[in-house]
Amino acid sequence: MSENNAMNDVTRRAFLQAAAAGATLAGGLLATATWGSGCAPRGPAAEAGVASDAPKTAGGDRMPVGFVAHGAPTLAIDPGKGGDLARWAVDLPRPRAILVISAHWEESPATAGTTRMQELLYDFYGFPRELYALRYPSPGAPELAARLASLVNGPLKQEDRPLDHGVWVPLLHMAPEADVPVLQLSLPSHEGPKGLFDLGRALAPLRDEGIFILGSGNIVHNLRQIDWSGGAPPAWADEFDQWAAESLLANDLDALIDYRTRAPGLHAAHPTEEHFQPLLVAAGAASVHGGTSTFPVEGFEFGSISRRSVQFG
Ligand code: ZN
Repeated sequence: MSENNAMNDVTRRAFLQAAAAGATLAGGLLATATWGSGCAPRGPAAEAGVASDAPKTAGGDRMPVGFVAHGAPTLAIDPGKGGDLARWAVDLPRPRAILVISAHWEESPATAGTTRMQELLYDFYGFPRELYALRYPSPGAPELAARLASLVNGPLKQEDRPLDHGVWVPLLHMAPEADVPVLQLSLPSHEGPKGLFDLGRALAPLRDEGIFILGSGNIVHNLRQIDWSGGAPPAWADEFDQWAAESLLANDLDALIDYRTRAPGLHAAHPTEEHFQPLLVAAGAASVHGGTSTFPVEGFEFGSISRRSVQFG
């Protein structure tokens, strides 16, 4: 069972209190940001995903790779934290489709989710009612799924699984018009850190086909150590977050892959590791073409949950 599934009532109350402090319905946010409005558009969004013979874009148009800190589901109705993600997205090129690897779907081997527009997964419990009324009607991406099958090692499994909250909650802010096709790919955590990194490497050609590859998790994530008051991060959280930041800035991929022995305080930062591991997939996808890492969002929430998001390349 993932740590997230072990969220207890105490934790939920902390999230609810924080959300109540400044929340409005996401509808109030949707008009505030448009993905890629800070960049020249790539043309109309594909109606049904991306053709497998899609022309390569010029090297200068290579899509960045992202890792988004999704925190609690209340991010969906948090204008402050959501605004940080919206501002990031404004500076990104508009993608033809989005491929998301979320902490909330661990399945090995890598498996593609639904290619239809359908109901979302509301895979959280005890949160404000309005969260369960939110919709994110993005088009499916069947042709991206077909393209993935040619990139991953072995036949690509596919399930008719809706998008989980690790996908649609950040995208409510990053792509609020829900007009870009979205596909979720499972996190094959049983394949280990190097296997996750290599999966990312296999996905790298998609960057030249207008696909935004987005890992979704948290660089520090221990729900048992929530600080209700949202005070300063404890030393173990800050040290782990700084280690990750320094490894990314130094492009020390070996350190990232070997995090189980090289990261400080792993078991405090990640009692279970599924929220860290999407970073490995993203780093792998970015590694093929090199490039620098930047942090469009930093800091902590609820004391120790890292809000650090990463843009590669
Ligand atoms: Zn999560």
